[in-house]
Amino acid sequence: MDLMQHIQTVRTRIETAALAAGRAPEEITLCAATKVQTDDTIRAAIAAGIRVCGENRVQELTAHLAADAYAGARVHFIGHLQTNKVKQVVGKVDLIQSVDSQRLLRAIDAQADKLGVRQDILLEVNIAGEESKGGCPVEELPALAELAGALEHVRLRGLMAIPPISGGPGANRPYFAAMRQLFVDTRGKMSDNQNDMDCLSMGMSGDFEDAIREGATLVRVGTALFGPRPPMGAAR
Ligand SMILES: *Cc1c(COP(=O)(O)O)cnc(C)c1O
Repeated sequence: MDLMQHIQTVRTRIETAALAAGRAPEEITLCAATKVQTDDTIRAAIAAGIRVCGENRVQELTAHLAADAYAGARVHFIGHLQTNKVKQVVGKVDLIQSVDSQRLLRAIDAQADKLGVRQDILLEVNIAGEESKGGCPVEELPALAELAGALEHVRLRGLMAIPPISGGPGANRPYFAAMRQLFVDTRGKMSDNQNDMDCLSMGMSGDFEDAIREGATLVRVGTALFGPRPPMGAAR
């Protein structure tokens, strides 16, 4: 696997999609989804220019942090976060992208308060209304955003979504467009921190170009950088 070449290819695809949409390529942050990757692969990715790593399991995050594998990059938490694990994440990552309930939001705020920090967060929206998925229902977003705006130890930076995987080319564009609208609406309703809301995280290996066309400012890419992952639960 030629990581350097994959990174270059993904960057070129981001640039092409941005220009085609009349956007500046620098507006779009590439977040490398590093789940199941080793410390050495993460270090190699950072040496090859990756500046943001997205981790989605607390256990892997903790191990990579202990090994200092992310040195030189920012770290985002992008996976489902249980309330009882916020201690392992708050104050240790630059951004928690996957906040989807008032309970979790309050737990993050309380832990950030204890640490004397302000934790940057995104609210994750279950934009396709999929039963099996995390993310808050669209109807609950306004209340969640209002609470995020009121809590002192979190800073709402924007929204995140993981639309369906198996839709085929173009299938997720309506979801991305809906997210863009929610992003604009949510930002418009924030009273004093509209300027903090600069991140719309959507798009993965299979659909990040469509996400960029619809306004993504951050794309989370795993497979297109690191190659296919072993199936979940497989020995590794
Ligand atoms: C794994 C993962 C990605 C990247 O998925 P790919 O299809 O491999 O690019 C993006 N976002 C989240 C939340 C993930 O868990």
